[in-house]
Amino acid sequence: MKRIATSTLFCLSSVCALAGPPMADVIHRPVKATAQAPTGVIGFSVSHMDRSVDPRQDFYAYANGNWLKRLVIPDAESEIGGFSMLGANLDAQLQQLAVQASQGRAAKGSPTQQVGDYYRAALDMRQRDAAGLQPIQADLDWAARASGPADLAQLSLRLHASAGSSPLLRLTSMPDMKDSSRTLLILQMGTLQLTNDQYSDPAAQKIRDLYVGYITRVHQQLGDAPDVAAAKARTILAMETELAAPRLTPAHEWDAAFIYNLLTVDEAQALIPAIDLRAMAAAARLTLPDRVQVRDLAGTKALQRLLASRPAQDVQTWLRWSVLALHADNLGQPWFQLSQDYQRQRDGLAASRPLERLAVQALTNQLYHPMSQLYVQRHFTDATRREVTQMVGHIKDEFARRLKSNPWLDAPTRAAALVKLSKVDIQVGYPKRWIDFSSVDIRADDHVGNSQRLAAFQLQRDLGKIGKPTVNERFSDAGHTTPTSVNAAYDTAFNGIDISAAIVQPPFFTPGADPVVNYCTMGAVVGHELTHGFDSMGRQYDAQGNLRDWWTPQATAEFKKRNDLLVAQYSQFQLLPGLNQDGALTLGENTADLGGITLAHAALHRALQRKFKGKPQPKVDGLSIDQRCFVAWAQLWIFKARDEYIRMLAAVDVHGNSVVRGYAPLMNLDAFHKAFGTRPGDAMWRKPADRVRIW
Ligand SMILES: [Zn+2]
Repeated sequence: MKRIATSTLFCLSSVCALAGPPMADVIHRPVKATAQAPTGVIGFSVSHMDRSVDPRQDFYAYANGNWLKRLVIPDAESEIGGFSMLGANLDAQLQQLAVQASQGRAAKGSPTQQVGDYYRAALDMRQRDAAGLQPIQADLDWAARASGPADLAQLSLRLHASAGSSPLLRLTSMPDMKDSSRTLLILQMGTLQLTNDQYSDPAAQKIRDLYVGYITRVHQQLGDAPDVAAAKARTILAMETELAAPRLTPAHEWDAAFIYNLLTVDEAQALIPAIDLRAMAAAARLTLPDRVQVRDLAGTKALQRLLASRPAQDVQTWLRWSVLALHADNLGQPWFQLSQDYQRQRDGLAASRPLERLAVQALTNQLYHPMSQLYVQRHFTDATRREVTQMVGHIKDEFARRLKSNPWLDAPTRAAALVKLSKVDIQVGYPKRWIDFSSVDIRADDHVGNSQRLAAFQLQRDLGKIGKPTVNERFSDAGHTTPTSVNAAYDTAFNGIDISAAIVQPPFFTPGADPVVNYCTMGAVVGHELTHGFDSMGRQYDAQGNLRDWWTPQATAEFKKRNDLLVAQYSQFQLLPGLNQDGALTLGENTADLGGITLAHAALHRALQRKFKGKPQPKVDGLSIDQRCFVAWAQLWIFKARDEYIRMLAAVDVHGNSVVRGYAPLMNLDAFHKAFGTRPGDAMWRKPADRVRIW
């Protein structure tokens, strides 16, 4: 998902990783919500289980076996699982809202008018075809003649303001990691078309070949002879490969030691004389602050080397290509089709996604609060919000109790941890205040223009925060935390958690349903986010969201010891032949999964104790409370994916593979081993001394 810089965001799912460098944590990288209609019931059901499998040998197959037999990855998708099936239902709801909005006549600037007219314009292929390249011609012309630091600065800003990104540099804003009360100007690397590892990984040769083919076809379409087009494509790939190699790895993107580089404007300019930073700020009508955070020093230097060493003509070819690549999905034919064909082949899909679904997704991403307003009014009730908020309180209380009795924390670190936990601000569903999009002109016959005006609005909003006291905007990270994202996220700068309205439905939560299932799915998600404030990255921030070491050396050593064990555990899991999970890259998420299910399981027992006052609870469907809890957790992570997708995620995603997430944390829980009677020699067995307990 594309990312708007707020702060370090932790997500629940892989959707986040797809969006670009991490800013805050989410439980899953938000899956692009694109799956086709789901097969059968989403969420907990004993009918999903395969009881012919021994849970002690393959717990995931025991919990999900029958479901896995029925699930088919849709032709136009890379995967199918709980997130994407919910995403498909959500898309259908959003599409219905968009269709209805497009049929009425609402006041200009209202959410209904904006959503309706954006949707109509996106679907109007006749208008898009007729416009041809005209809507981006000025950018193409700029790219074709850009030469010298002032030109490159202007172009970079122009592209960011029209396409939402640039291949050169991007200006954005974020709360200062060491003083979250103020907002800094951030100098970010531009966007390349492949992930960094895809430029060099031998396993990604097919993707590089497809990419070169795509660039070639686009240039032929622009009028080049086949050999000229192919030569340009090779040059472009070589240039991007040169840029990608030294960039931050996905793990370093999260590491303050790599990204917190506060430089004066002169120091930043000295890194990249080829782009005039003052001209770039002037083009954005931005007064440059004294200091700039340069997130990727090596990447910035690599861009300088490339711009200084390549002939202007090569740079212009690359920039012109980038303009087209950034806009292709919004244009008419043939550009749209060339882009879709390339993406389909790259992702190993049998079909492209329908235009209606692409339109809904673009709409939800760009008009994120107007769309969310319509969604929440129709689909999110106050009763659900109250029920989830109450569960959140129970999970938080449980965490506090466990911190108080934690055996490896020393007194000073324990006290500081309790303060930090007490200040975590959790909001459920939607923000108290919506962002006002009404000034953006959305027309029913100008898709590219709508997209450009929204990109400019977003850039202006981001840059408008610089140098001012930080405003804690909630549910505003497009694609990650908006009310229509299937996600929950912890934000380090605000020490806050946003639980979206869209995630509060099956498979995560069913209002009024069996508390065992609700706790061990939604409750575990809440616990996951809460413990993110205390994982290997989150623990570096204090209660105010500032980067500050509040741990004693002894507590740090104890924590690291447990982290090292988790890294070793997860590095053992094989995803594909020759491809193992990266235990170091996924450490924070694995810690959060372990913490999440641990807290949820403990809070569940306390809730049942309150309700049943110690009376023994009969089995349901032949499953005890703990058995149901762990089966529900494993079913939350139902997942089937194409190899291309598994490989791509393994390289870039801080979240582990969903199948692994379905059983790996359970192997560290005594209650799991007790519930299923595992014994030494069983595949699911882990001896007590090797079980990792953190929270
Ligand atoms: Zn997470």
